[in-house]
Amino acid sequence: MRYSQYLLPTLKEVPADAEVVSHQLMLRTGMIRKVAAGIYNYMPLGLRSIRKMEQIIREEMNRAGAIECLMPMANPAELWHESGRWEKYGKELLRFKDRKDADFCMGPTHEEIVTDIVRNTVRSYRQLPLNLYQIQTKFRDEIRPRFGLMRGREFIMKDAYSFDLDDAGADLSYQKMYQAYRNIFQRCGLRFRAVEADSGAIGGSFSHEFMVLAESGEDAIVSCDSCEYAANVEKAEVLWSGQETPKPRQEIQLVETPDQKSIKEVADFLELSSSQLIKTLILQTSTEEVIAVLVRGDRELNAIKLANLLNVDWVLPAEESLVKKVTGAPAGFAGPIGLEIRVLADNEVCAMSDYVVGGNVADRHYIGVNHPRDVVIDQFADLRRAEEGDPCPRCSGGHFESWRGIEVGHVFKLGTNYSDAMEATVLDDKGQARTLVMGCYGIGVGRTVAAAIEQNHDEHGLKLPLPLAPFQVLVVMVNPKDEQVRRTSEDIYARLLTQGVEVLLDDRDERPGSKFKDADLVGIPLRVTVGARGLQEGVVELKIRTSGEQSSVPIGEIVSVLQQHIDAAAD
Ligand code: ATP
Ligand code: MG
Repeated sequence: MRYSQYLLPTLKEVPADAEVVSHQLMLRTGMIRKVAAGIYNYMPLGLRSIRKMEQIIREEMNRAGAIECLMPMANPAELWHESGRWEKYGKELLRFKDRKDADFCMGPTHEEIVTDIVRNTVRSYRQLPLNLYQIQTKFRDEIRPRFGLMRGREFIMKDAYSFDLDDAGADLSYQKMYQAYRNIFQRCGLRFRAVEADSGAIGGSFSHEFMVLAESGEDAIVSCDSCEYAANVEKAEVLWSGQETPKPRQEIQLVETPDQKSIKEVADFLELSSSQLIKTLILQTSTEEVIAVLVRGDRELNAIKLANLLNVDWVLPAEESLVKKVTGAPAGFAGPIGLEIRVLADNEVCAMSDYVVGGNVADRHYIGVNHPRDVVIDQFADLRRAEEGDPCPRCSGGHFESWRGIEVGHVFKLGTNYSDAMEATVLDDKGQARTLVMGCYGIGVGRTVAAAIEQNHDEHGLKLPLPLAPFQVLVVMVNPKDEQVRRTSEDIYARLLTQGVEVLLDDRDERPGSKFKDADLVGIPLRVTVGARGLQEGVVELKIRTSGEQSSVPIGEIVSVLQQHIDAAAD
């Protein structure tokens, strides 16, 4: 490709609405251009990286025995009614009608469509296991599309769906995908971790997320510093060794705490540490129950663990008027004493005594509180958010480290949720109909490229690793007017093309300084500079973008040296 005839609209300024580096750089290098919120054009340079990502995915999926197909974006509502998701899926599902007034949606994920394919085409256990995948454009009307391709509304996903006769088979399919995902992200040259993830209230299922480690990541993860345990904080278990409740030492007493609402304010006012206080959260569930949840003052509630425990879709803080109705006090003074609603507490509360809680009266707190003497707690459970330094729940002696991550992939054992609802069965070896056991496996293609940029850039621009870089080699013709420079550059360019190397030739009539700036910005991994001075000595300059390493290479050797670098990256 010749730069002079290519469409590579680079920007000098950092676009104002781009918060994260990958979004900024994708816009600055002209990889993407915004069309509407969360909807982008993949410009020629960006599309090259996207296609490379897709190819790596395709190779590893095929290697793992999955079969490629392509399903439609427009999904008829009937199938979604069958699974029950037409009603359940919220506003992320973009619904529309055709000219006959029939309901459709843009597919945000394809369990319904793929289950329909399989129930109509697979009859016998002999055709199993089956894993169908596609690389396809999804639409989710995200409430807050942001960070460019990282959280778009229209985005490319690889989604795969496995079908097995039984649970053991489904576990094997899951393991294969787990390994394929490891291979994919390793081949992309990413620093990542597979973490245990929340799989909602659906019983019997499990899942892992693949997280690219990056400060800008939206997910918090913890991992053990001495064993393999790693989990999304949404899921991370907190170890509970079942300590007994200590005997009360103090009498309960209602004290004045004028205007002291937050845990910190109350703790400072009473000259105690936050860990001697208990937070009373008044919450509302998706099933319209109002409950109180107690956690130690310096801890955070994990609302996902709580929702799973209660088997509800969500729990949210109750509105202020409801808090007042339930506790009789303004927000900030809620406590568990005398409440007529269900009271749950985090395990850690069990081992506390002589603590402080809200008084259920404005400007009052109770001190010297003890359960079960003063407080009735209906249930203790693991409800708090795991933190850095917490002991590992799986090994003895390990502690949690915390990280931020970008979820680029997700493997999920679905079980029979969809196949039950949609009656997807096969005949087993005894001729009996058996419900298929499913798994689903997604990778965000654009999000992975964006995550790779988060990990691979510097102040000058992109430093994408070879497997994901839009081109492998950039040949910079320093002065195209110099006949020898032109001829040598053209010759190297032609030889690289013959060898199948992905090469961009900067043949523009621009100042060398601006060519080098663009070269650093676009960050093609191997840069060959052909200049008059070098040619006098029969050499060209090779610069490795990732390491910054530079060397002079004899003209006759440059093509094979480049090829060696490319081969080494492919190993
Ligand atoms: P998130 O929690 O980030 O919304 P999700 O759990 O909804 O992700 P899945 O339904 O598991 O995502 O989708 C599979 C993969 O698709 C994700 O791992 C992610 O890489 C990608 N993905 C999901 N939503 C988006 C989006 N809005 N933009 C880009 N990629 C996305
Ligand atoms: Mg989502």
